[in-house]
Amino acid sequence: MQYRNKPIFIIKKNMQKSVLTGVYFDSLITNEILTDCCFKILGLTDFDKQFVDNNYSDEFLDATYNHGRLAILQYHDIVYYISFSDERCEGRNSGIQSVPTAFNRYYLNQYKEKRLYFYFLPCSGNNATSYYQFMYRLMKTAGFEFINIPYTIGCINSFNSIDDIIRARKENGDKNSGNNATYLIKTDSHKYEIFGKTYGANKYDTSLICYAVSKLAGKEDCITLYEYNEKDLKELPEASLNVLQKMGNISIINIDDEIEKQELEENDSLRSPRFNARLLDRLGEKHCVLCDCGMSELVQAAHIWPVADIKKTSFSLENKLDFATDGENGLWMCQNHHKMFDSNLLFLSENGEISYCSDLSETDENYAKSITTKMMLDTKLITPKFREYIHKRYNA
Ligand SMILES: [Zn+2]
Repeated sequence: MQYRNKPIFIIKKNMQKSVLTGVYFDSLITNEILTDCCFKILGLTDFDKQFVDNNYSDEFLDATYNHGRLAILQYHDIVYYISFSDERCEGRNSGIQSVPTAFNRYYLNQYKEKRLYFYFLPCSGNNATSYYQFMYRLMKTAGFEFINIPYTIGCINSFNSIDDIIRARKENGDKNSGNNATYLIKTDSHKYEIFGKTYGANKYDTSLICYAVSKLAGKEDCITLYEYNEKDLKELPEASLNVLQKMGNISIINIDDEIEKQELEENDSLRSPRFNARLLDRLGEKHCVLCDCGMSELVQAAHIWPVADIKKTSFSLENKLDFATDGENGLWMCQNHHKMFDSNLLFLSENGEISYCSDLSETDENYAKSITTKMMLDTKLITPKFREYIHKRYNA
């Protein structure tokens, strides 16, 4: 990059849908906004600007439309990537959907002296929901500096640790609903799993969570991203995968039928990422259905119709895999309850009633009752398929 004595903004005029919407970037990013950016970043108000067409390219911009709602500011030998929020904040994350793209362009550029910023444009809709606040914190953690934070949003602090992200999620979210696009789960000391959906707006959540987690990961941390999807798009966008590869501390596993079939053939207790993903979708964050324990290290995916029994049937391998990974054939249980359920010390009826083995001593039965805080399973768990699986468990 050439040495610049005077700050210069170089900005692509066309956004992805400008031809359709008639909205071009030079009408959104006014001189006043650029002055604000220049002053807040550099303390200067005198600058040059160039709005350029799709065919323009240099070492920071490709010959295409404006990816990532970016302005590139160059001054002396430093380049500043500035990403602008969307003018609409209607959908769950529509205000910041360009953020991962902006981050990818910044991160994958080889130039050393670079900085990353975010600017809030005036927007319609509420960009201060707890969901947005969570996303801003992820952005800050990943490396964004905020140029102007609206007073409705307040202070944006980065997360201190991966556990800190998990805690914030738990404190904000409804653990019983499977509405999250991305789940971040601690499975053991220094072991984390990210279940990330990759289609539609979900890929933005997944990318941002991964970037923040990667930034916070220590040497001893072991992190796996499971990409999953029930639709056709199987992977994160190529640029996001390239970023994760360059970050180098998250292993990426695409949930795949063939691997799961092999697992099923070789093992009687299937440790299936797909089964986990479906339970997360159906039941939300890991929490024991019998005692509400939410410590994810202790909570496991319990099969209702056991894998060993499924394997004894004459169904095809495909069908067996469908049963073994069906979200309705599973419940979250803490280790104690999982073991009690599998050892028939505790029973579940088709109506969700809980009972205990009649051979238990009084002391043991009292203990079992004392750790089982639920009198019955939640009624939303009692579906026709649940009844069917319970029936198969005890009568097949
Ligand atoms: Zn439990």
